[in-house]
Amino acid sequence: MSFDSLNLASPIIKAINLCGYAAPTPIQEQAIPPAMAGKDLIASAQTGTGKTAAFVIPALERLQKPSTARGKGPRVLILTPTRELANQVTEAVRTYGRFMRLRHGAIVGGMPYFEQQRLLSQPVDIIIATPGRLIDHLESGRIDFSRVELLVLDEADRMLDMGFSEAVETITRATPEGRQTLLFTATWDNTMARLAQRLMKDPVRIAVAGKKATLEAIEQRLHAADDMQHKTRMLNHLIADSGMTRAIIFSSTKRNADQLARELHAQGHAAEALHGDMNQGARNRTIMNMRRGKVRLLVATDVAARGLDVPGITHVINYDLPKNAEDYVHRIGRTGRAGATGIAISFVSFRELDQLTRIERYIGQSLPQQVIAGLEPARPLRSSNSRSDRPGTSAYRGRPSASGANRYGQRTTSRDTYGTPTGRKPHSPGAYAGDRKRDAKSQGGWAGDYRKPQGDRRSRWA
Ligand code: AMP
Repeated sequence: MSFDSLNLASPIIKAINLCGYAAPTPIQEQAIPPAMAGKDLIASAQTGTGKTAAFVIPALERLQKPSTARGKGPRVLILTPTRELANQVTEAVRTYGRFMRLRHGAIVGGMPYFEQQRLLSQPVDIIIATPGRLIDHLESGRIDFSRVELLVLDEADRMLDMGFSEAVETITRATPEGRQTLLFTATWDNTMARLAQRLMKDPVRIAVAGKKATLEAIEQRLHAADDMQHKTRMLNHLIADSGMTRAIIFSSTKRNADQLARELHAQGHAAEALHGDMNQGARNRTIMNMRRGKVRLLVATDVAARGLDVPGITHVINYDLPKNAEDYVHRIGRTGRAGATGIAISFVSFRELDQLTRIERYIGQSLPQQVIAGLEPARPLRSSNSRSDRPGTSAYRGRPSASGANRYGQRTTSRDTYGTPTGRKPHSPGAYAGDRKRDAKSQGGWAGDYRKPQGDRRSRWA
């Protein structure tokens, strides 16, 4: 299929041609025709599949015709879980709408209110927003939703995980009944099904090749790590490779991200940190520096895992593994984008074996282990027979043995970062619910109706 066969308006086709895309991606091929026909749509799509264009293009098509409704509120409203993703969508609107007369803008937390009020004071075509800040404007009567024709929920699963479900429903209820709704999600569970049932009318469902296909272009491997010092020595070895043109190094805490970036900078590397404690201006500057090639090593927390679209990232290094298996896919999806190949390397300590098990089960494959000569771990990460275990086997699921340890020899009560037993069961959402709540807040989020993370309970819908 070609873009020409989608019957797009000429300003849109012209903009797409300028991007150099040869053909629509599978999600675009399947989503654009029903979306252009005005149907509600539930699409299962990972980041990196071209999903943004799959909803931005139908939105722009809709704006080819003038609005018949009075008022100055947005005609298209796009909700995203994070500011970074909102910025990426805004960039996509700018790119695909460059030959159209459009008024659009982002309403996200961490940015001054007065600029957003100015945006809302004139008729606007497209608003891209994070739910928390949009609710602020809605409650103070500064935004009028009576003209909304199209509502897009991007990464809806993530919005629910971040505690935005009530905000999403409040916003949706404030829009006209007759609107069209497009929902994009990577995962599907009962909560999502109920939300879709409440908000959508007879939706068309599409599922494109999921994360496995997305991950095909990425070479994944792991290195067993004894401790932080060992991780840092391995990192120093890897970043000495000149083939690493641009890399994102993921760290689990903001403090460690800052510290690591400072250390790398002190060693003479073009390194900067990116995390949720930085104000939006500083975050945007750092991303811009990476795009311009001024930053080679970006040390980031998961806030950067979503929506960060910097071309040419050759490597993703998980200095720490993410707690949430889905975040692993999002992190490594920063490389191998749009047809390029990439390398994803994870450092895994004994303390992170549970996380590794969850990730491997989620992606349906075992990560091959590699050793750097001279930097071998003091003891093997897994027992030798574990190499033959594959996701899906009961042994693989890490069931506790009679000794109270799972097959990796781990205890089945979780421990905090100092190795002290917490008394909570591993994987218990409560073990990290507080972190997720704080994250939602630090991203300008609205954690009031925080919903426990679903982790691996969700099935992959695709
Ligand atoms: P997304 O999944 O929306 O984050 O998009 C991932 C990347 O794919 C972005 O860098 C887009 O510019 C790129 N992209 C979108 N559509 C196409 C296409 N039809 N062909 C090639 N690249 C594309």
